[in-house]
Amino acid sequence: MILLRTYAVDGREHDKHASREAFAECRAIYGNLAVELECADAYAYWRHLENAWHAPGSLVTVEQDVVVLPSHVRELEACPHPACVFAYDIYPVRGALVVPECVHRGNWPGESAPLGEGDEWASLVGLGCARIRQELRESVVPTPAVPRVPWRELAGALCTRLDVAWHVHWPRVVHDHWPGDAVA
Ligand SMILES: [Zn+2]
Repeated sequence: MILLRTYAVDGREHDKHASREAFAECRAIYGNLAVELECADAYAYWRHLENAWHAPGSLVTVEQDVVVLPSHVRELEACPHPACVFAYDIYPVRGALVVPECVHRGNWPGESAPLGEGDEWASLVGLGCARIRQELRESVVPTPAVPRVPWRELAGALCTRLDVAWHVHWPRVVHDHWPGDAVA
């Protein structure tokens, strides 16, 4: 397994604090398998994922402002499905209101829409707390395996390429990213 936490050099520091602390707990357990990598340009996230893609075992992704504890990693590792995510909210502003909604989307059947509480499957997910098994990663034919796109487009492009039903775990993990900043 490789546990990969990526963070942007220009991200808001207060958003990263709890995520960083939680990841330190993961590192205490997983040691050198828990890696933190800086994203200094638009394609750095892609490079890090592509480099980790062929590592043995599961690939767990943690984004800079998502609070992922060892218990989350254990649960994802224990689940038999090829691709899993923990649910978490994003906080879009509508008028003067902030209306939290699940970052993951489902479209079976019908249009893409945020998942409801407890929904078990998603087709389009964020990678804030995700686990992709080796067998699924190795099933990708194109090279590079991870679509080479800027970080904003990466999760969507990867979902399209994998074309898999993502198994969604609840309750939500904490996403410390509130509106008012362009960095997701
Ligand atoms: Zn699962």
